[in-house]
Amino acid sequence: TNVTPTLTPKPWISGIAPYVPGKSAGADGRALIKLSANENPLGTSDAARAAFTAAQDAADALSRYPDPGSNLLREAIAARFGLDPARVICGNGSDELLHLAAGTYAGAGDEILYVRYGFAVYEIAARRVGATPVEADDRDYATDVDALLAAVTDKTRVVYLANPNNPTGTLATREEVTRLHAGLPKDVLFVIDQAYAEYLAPDEDDGGLELAKTEPNVFVTRTFSKIHGLAAERIGWGYAASDVISALHRIRLPFNVTRAGQAAAVAALGDDDFVTRSREHNASWRAWLAREIEGLGNHGLRVVPSATNFLLVLFEGSVSAETVYNRLMDAGYIVRWLPGQGLPHALRMTIGTEEETRGLAAAIRAALAG
Ligand code: PMP
Repeated sequence: TNVTPTLTPKPWISGIAPYVPGKSAGADGRALIKLSANENPLGTSDAARAAFTAAQDAADALSRYPDPGSNLLREAIAARFGLDPARVICGNGSDELLHLAAGTYAGAGDEILYVRYGFAVYEIAARRVGATPVEADDRDYATDVDALLAAVTDKTRVVYLANPNNPTGTLATREEVTRLHAGLPKDVLFVIDQAYAEYLAPDEDDGGLELAKTEPNVFVTRTFSKIHGLAAERIGWGYAASDVISALHRIRLPFNVTRAGQAAAVAALGDDDFVTRSREHNASWRAWLAREIEGLGNHGLRVVPSATNFLLVLFEGSVSAETVYNRLMDAGYIVRWLPGQGLPHALRMTIGTEEETRGLAAAIRAALAG
């Protein structure tokens, strides 16, 4: 039974394709190998897990609100990256911070700009505050700085750049990021979303945090969901000038990061070994999987160069991405098919454990054979 509706959502809401999270189990309840959400296949650092458990075991763990200012976590982040703790903000995932950026600086009549095949949250963040989302052309799936700059108007209030980008995996260089920032008016907030920054080699650093230290209109965001393996607890952080941070704080939810999450994140920051192991595992199996896919012969598969913990694979031959997606699902592997993001010809695959990655490569080979 249902209730007859009498309420009408704002028109743009009906126009948004609902977010369909990646499945974790098959229709028959069989466990699937989930390579669809860019999580860490090595799990979580032991130190972070121990801190999480200890925080959960406190007698008042459930009855008391968490620290609303995430103070210890902000101090730990500042110490780790050489930042001013007063200019660090923590969020319920970096998703919350991305939404806050739009809500703080844009509204009806304003424009929010990002590249085509940018991270899916940007469009929703723009529409939610009544702003107009504007997509600049990509350059063969990569960020095109000139196209972004050409799309800036006097209505642009926020520019989002995921670097590296999801779902394409591509990286804009330090020179490109610097040039983009230099070309933007000073009254535009430049959000550099570095959710995958820890996967980069040191010489790939895009310089975003350095820019945020000195520039009044740069907001860098990071997350504990990816390399730190804390996706379940929803912890992100950002860095910007004091006036930006203080404006964001005014409209954020008051107790936005859980107590156990704050404790786990502090411990995760202290476990460099886990981060290094995760980065090295990812780099070698990402290269391995890309070579395997490129070696599959005459099926028209193309791997977009990736700086992240996933690969975007384009299907430009006779076997479609949708067919391979369904066959992989039947074989027990769930990857991400992206028709809702203008990429019906592409699959995004997270780098898993060695066993998962070898299994995925074999399953793709079998799926192409029919
Ligand atoms: N930015 C990008 C580019 C992402 O891929 C993701 C995760 N899908 C996020 C931000 C948000 O991550 P979280 O909210 O878990 O911090």
